[in-house]
Amino acid sequence: MALIKKEDFILSISDALQFISYYHSEDFILSMAEAYEKEKSVLAKDAILQILTNSKMSALGHRPICQDTGIVVAFIEVGMDVQWLSDLSIEDMVNEGVKHAYTQKDNPLRPSIVSDPAGKRQNTNDNTPAITHIKVIKGDKVHISISAKGGGSENKAQFTTLNPSDSIVDWVLKVIPEMGAGWCPPGIVGIGIGGTAEKAMLLAKESLMLPIDIHSLVKRGAKNKIEELRIELYNKINSLGIGAQGFGGLTTVLDVKIMDYPCHASSLPIALIPNCAATRHTDFILDGSGPAHFKIPSLNSWPKKAWAPQMEAKRINLDTLDKASIKGWKEGDLLLLSGKLLTARDGAHKKIADLLKKGEALPVGIKLRNKFIYYVGPVDAVRNEVIGPAGPTTGSRMDQFMEMMLAELGIMGTIGKAERGERAVQTIKKYQSVYLSAVGGAAYLVSKAITSSKVVAFSELGMEAMYEFEVRDMPVMVSVDTHGKSIYSEAPSRWKNKSIPINSLK
Ligand code: SF4
Repeated sequence: MALIKKEDFILSISDALQFISYYHSEDFILSMAEAYEKEKSVLAKDAILQILTNSKMSALGHRPICQDTGIVVAFIEVGMDVQWLSDLSIEDMVNEGVKHAYTQKDNPLRPSIVSDPAGKRQNTNDNTPAITHIKVIKGDKVHISISAKGGGSENKAQFTTLNPSDSIVDWVLKVIPEMGAGWCPPGIVGIGIGGTAEKAMLLAKESLMLPIDIHSLVKRGAKNKIEELRIELYNKINSLGIGAQGFGGLTTVLDVKIMDYPCHASSLPIALIPNCAATRHTDFILDGSGPAHFKIPSLNSWPKKAWAPQMEAKRINLDTLDKASIKGWKEGDLLLLSGKLLTARDGAHKKIADLLKKGEALPVGIKLRNKFIYYVGPVDAVRNEVIGPAGPTTGSRMDQFMEMMLAELGIMGTIGKAERGERAVQTIKKYQSVYLSAVGGAAYLVSKAITSSKVVAFSELGMEAMYEFEVRDMPVMVSVDTHGKSIYSEAPSRWKNKSIPINSLK
């Protein structure tokens, strides 16, 4: 009978979360490197190399892969013969491990969890509570699968109940384009088929804990309907042409994972949850012999080539930029930004809107006219860092504020990730503004372009406070130009049906 000590359990959870905050798993790195090798789209290839370079920098620097360090999801299988030496419940021990991991001094992780979700939405400050699923099984060990799931990809979760004779493939190919690029592809799509509504969602999430193995599956051949579906969906999703970050390209998914379960004869529940460029998960077993240890990926797993700006990227001085100059920018142009910009995301936009509504002045220090707003919630700095990892968050969440920001406050443009809604694109066009995209999942790399940082307003919002950043050669792309032309609506059709199905590769 294994005796599991509280200290070993908590330390293992904490170490696992620190580990996955800066190490991608080897299967993920190799798969992303393969996607880089075969990519033909210049913009997608550049984005993938940013993701890979960022991944290696994080591994070497022990700093988060992404500024969104995720919501913790743990699947725990407890052997019936396990005995616990603990005065805490399993769920409480997981939360202790989360708290310990997210408040580490050497590598603090961004707390992103808010309590009272329908009300005050107050940050819990230590990223607790986790989402813990516990199952009792036969045996005398504890098996733990743990992940730190990014909000951008989690927000794209899908569910429906099909009629038994409906096509699963048709449904998946309908919802994937509708999901846009806010889930930061290339990544993994997890699918749960069968059970009931909640079971299908759980299966989809659990399937994301499995390693990437689509190539070995193709090599040995599908042995059942689920494996056939995986290969078919992998090929068909990639042939949609969405590509890295939605910039158009050959690889949208690195793998499609599916788990299934028997269901009622009258229904076919199906859930789909994507995992992003910051796919972070690991698993370990506790057998009473002490805390878990984690295998560090070999440095040879990453490509030798590191990201550097493309020759054709235009250098832009934000401090002298005028509205006339941005009219010359075209959708798909690569830019390197230098100068000052302001940050704001959901919380700060809401505060500004509330102040304007009440007829009150904005806090001293917010001078928005002719400024670019970067949608970001950075990780706190450590040691000699200017700021911690600081990649873009999803732009469309700020769509409702575009009229206010452009018409009333006179900003020049915005920087985020993924597509904007049609109304926001029309507003951008109306005010001759632009929307620029940085690469989601390249947060540590982007943070190295930030040369100074200070909070200018709403410090009570924590990571959602407004900062003034000074940047040098920050890499972005024009994703909506002053004519309202958007890369996200144009690019997939250019790359549709260009990927080569894997079962026809030599
Ligand atoms: S890669 Fe994108 S979706 Fe994933 S955690 Fe980072 S910002 Fe969120």
